[in-house]
Amino acid sequence: MARKNGKDGNGAKDDKAEETRSQAPWSDHPPSFAGWARAAIAGSGTAPSLSPHLHLIPPPAAPGIVTVGPGQAFSLAAINPDATGGLDKAEAKAALDAQRARIRSLQEKLYAEHRRSLLVVFQAIDTGGKDGTIRNVLEGVNPQGCRVWSFKVPSPEELDQDFLWRYHRRTPGRGLIGVFNRSHYEDVLVVRVKGLVPEETWRERYGLINEFERLLTLSGCVILKFFLHISKDEQKERLEARLADPEKHWKFDPADLVERKSWDAYQTAFDDALTRCSTPYAPWHVVPANRKWARNVMVARTIADTLEAMDPRFPEPRKGLEGITVPD
Ligand code: AMP
Ligand code: MG
Repeated sequence: MARKNGKDGNGAKDDKAEETRSQAPWSDHPPSFAGWARAAIAGSGTAPSLSPHLHLIPPPAAPGIVTVGPGQAFSLAAINPDATGGLDKAEAKAALDAQRARIRSLQEKLYAEHRRSLLVVFQAIDTGGKDGTIRNVLEGVNPQGCRVWSFKVPSPEELDQDFLWRYHRRTPGRGLIGVFNRSHYEDVLVVRVKGLVPEETWRERYGLINEFERLLTLSGCVILKFFLHISKDEQKERLEARLADPEKHWKFDPADLVERKSWDAYQTAFDDALTRCSTPYAPWHVVPANRKWARNVMVARTIADTLEAMDPRFPEPRKGLEGITVPD
């Protein structure tokens, strides 16, 4: 079944990390996992060395998040969507601020280094909190170094291409953080639930997605995939809140009520996608997401830890600038 963070048999390093974390699970300065990323930038050439990326062991996600172990059958039914990872609501604001500050400073280095990129994928059922998480977690990030893409029903132009085309053209270039609000996973989720393509077509896609993500990883793009897990009751409350507040009416989509009838079919599709597409290089992180304040901190911390593990660095100071004076 699912593995809990830091207890996945990644070796002594992880055990040590878990030990440190359990003493101070929300410390602002978690242990460094830079070892795996350092190999990728060793040699300091101008182009990233490619092969080491495939051997990266992503750092554990924040406490409270359940990372799906590659090759293991996974079921969302086993995950409590109310979990908070031991975080207190009273501490949440300060904890989020601290994680955002880490993301901001690491993003600056990632951008300056201009060698690797980070792709953050969000999937969830309707009202699951994708928009709110992106808004809260990325607040304060330099917009120049970040691209957010929301994927809706494909256009005729997109439908004329292979299913990955529209996603591949939006993957982040070197130095950038890319965010996918919905993603290539829709093509094994809504497409499956609504029967938009034959079963043999969507079944083939799990392997294609894994290969796509392997290609990105090999090319220096680290992939973080978050599944925001809410309960059916929580979805009801969120839909009712949208109906009750005129300022939230714009968020209410009657189609969400139709989709809600397929709740169980979606859970099955999620379970299969999370099971089949958790790889060592791009595992799924399941975030208990009923409590928005806890969800935000868990996601922010995982992004910050991952960036820290990538260990981005400002380029070496240039030589020969000492004698230069700027003319009046
Ligand atoms: P929203 O994100 O709530 O604004 O809605 C976007 C809608 O687009 C959702 O109903 C998704 O299920 C739908 N959608 C996203 N990607 C696909 C896809 N590849 N095929 C069909 N529908 C999609
Ligand atoms: Mg919607």
